[in-house]
Amino acid sequence: MSDEWLQLINEIKNCKKCPLSKYRRNPVPGEGPRDADIMIIGEAPGAKEDEEGRPFVGAAGKLLTTLLESIGLKRDNVYITNVVKCRPPNNRDPTEEEINTCLPYLMKQIAIIKPKIIIALGRHAARTIFKQAGLVWKNMSTMHGKVYEGTINGHKVIIIPTYHPAAALYKPNLKAILEKDFTVVIASVLRDKEKKRQRSLLDFLK
Ligand code: URA
Ligand code: SF4
Repeated sequence: MSDEWLQLINEIKNCKKCPLSKYRRNPVPGEGPRDADIMIIGEAPGAKEDEEGRPFVGAAGKLLTTLLESIGLKRDNVYITNVVKCRPPNNRDPTEEEINTCLPYLMKQIAIIKPKIIIALGRHAARTIFKQAGLVWKNMSTMHGKVYEGTINGHKVIIIPTYHPAAALYKPNLKAILEKDFTVVIASVLRDKEKKRQRSLLDFLK
């Protein structure tokens, strides 16, 4: 593991840069392979995540794991994190200031991992990532499950926004929408693989 990565995780674990540090039990930096092609970004840790120091381990996490498995991916294949690394009290929305204070950590994670595809879960993650990628965010109802191409840190990245799995726990109609949106993810992965195959074939024929 690179020193830069360990230093970043360590910095998050000891961070007191915003008021959320006063309420958290454990910061939740994220988990998954450092060279993942797919990065999943949620909003903020909840109670269970705060307790364990791991992302998406509660009820919403169970649904996320099922959604990943429905497209043939395992949790271990993707990097999972949140916009804000510490739990807001009573699961309130993170404030604009908290998001902006925490954002350099997420941006550094993206710079090191260099994911090809980012799945943004919920509007907070979506509008934050869109802004960083130089794209215009409107709303979830018209933009979910579509493929957007942006640039982050000079790297092209595909962004697919969808609803937060926590929302599907109390609005059951969203579950089917999420399932459909995740099939868009796997189609993008396959398209990327095919492009790579064609490129290497062309190189071979040169
Ligand atoms: N909801 C999130 O946005 N992130 C988590 O890690 C868990 C629930
Ligand atoms: Fe630091 Fe982010 Fe936690 Fe705030 S939410 S204390 S900025 S790690």
